[in-house]
Amino acid sequence: MKTYKIALIKGDGIGPEIIDEAVKVLDAVSSRYDFDFSYEEALMGGCAYDITGDPLPQETIAISLSSDAVLFGAIGGEKWDNLPREKRPESGLLRFRKELGVYSNLRPAVVYDELINASSLKPEIIKGVDIMVIRELIGGIYFGEPKGRTEDKGWNTMVYTKDEIIRISHHAFKIAMKRGKRVCSVDKANVLDVSQLWRETVEEVAKDYPEVELSHMYVDNAAMQLIRDPKQFDVMLTGNIFGDILSDEASMLCGSIGLLPSASVGDRIGVYEPIHGSAPDIAGQGIANPIATIASASMMLRYELGEIEAANCIDKAIKLALSDGYRTKDLSQFDAKEVCSTSEMGSIIANNTVKCKH
Ligand code: NAD
Repeated sequence: MKTYKIALIKGDGIGPEIIDEAVKVLDAVSSRYDFDFSYEEALMGGCAYDITGDPLPQETIAISLSSDAVLFGAIGGEKWDNLPREKRPESGLLRFRKELGVYSNLRPAVVYDELINASSLKPEIIKGVDIMVIRELIGGIYFGEPKGRTEDKGWNTMVYTKDEIIRISHHAFKIAMKRGKRVCSVDKANVLDVSQLWRETVEEVAKDYPEVELSHMYVDNAAMQLIRDPKQFDVMLTGNIFGDILSDEASMLCGSIGLLPSASVGDRIGVYEPIHGSAPDIAGQGIANPIATIASASMMLRYELGEIEAANCIDKAIKLALSDGYRTKDLSQFDAKEVCSTSEMGSIIANNTVKCKH
């Protein structure tokens, strides 16, 4: 029997709670299919800083690179907000992504029919929304030089090389070929030189994919169009900061940020993580929604391990939990038959995998 080695990085805040539920579901699904998991835990974020003085210990990179995939919770919290920037949890995460070379972040935003009333938009606007945001993850303004701070001035630089744009564009077009064959590239080419290069380069790459329809949209318009008519989008291709913001916006189409998974992939192994943060305001209360992390585990099976049937099984198990009326607190006002804790939701989804095989 095949055994996949998974690096588990639980992180801070609700990270440990939600990862535990994803592991519960992975173990349930593996027992129904012909593979197994072995897990190795690694530290990152504030918890890593507290123990080692470094938010990203070298050992975490080593454990990750010797695994088949990384399942990641979330990092950060007020306790570490006043540390020097390089010691902060968020710096550890940015360094981690760079070290692993995960340049492409896939963020699906799919509206579950069962949660149609949870969106702040009208049902007819959001029913059937199925968007894949493809966000460049290790370039752009979060990494560009020069950057710096003095008492009364702060600056960052948005830089993209042509090669970086080519690489992420190919990924977006390849994903679009497996979906609705439409790519909308988001930029600010009317103002930014970096965006002009982005637009020209995406146009060049598009020539390799004649079946895919390419459109361009300025980021401010894209933010508006996502709310006005989200169904117009299939794949949205974005740089780092634009994708960060637009995918959080897209999460609200779906009802709760606690539902949205992501996959960060590149040339080496992938990192699978919810799009939300460590939610310190609800940590330790057993009320976090684990679905984003469980769905991230499903993306890991699908995109990294090639266990498509098992991934489909988890996706169906999530839908079944929702259609049976189970809701965590974030969604308790929306057609809930029973409000359940983080751990109860994990157990319900794990148990559903029995019914959802095939
Ligand atoms: P957040 O995503 O942690 O929380 C935003 C809001 O959404 C909060 O009200 C929170 O309670 C709620 N929420 C988030 N996840 C939820 C879930 N699974 N179930 C129910 N509700 C959920 O964003 P924030 O408050 O801006 O940031 C908190 C910390 O997380 C900060 O330190 C930030 O830097 C960090 N952060 C980390 C990541 C990451 O690890 N990838 C991403 C974003 C933010």
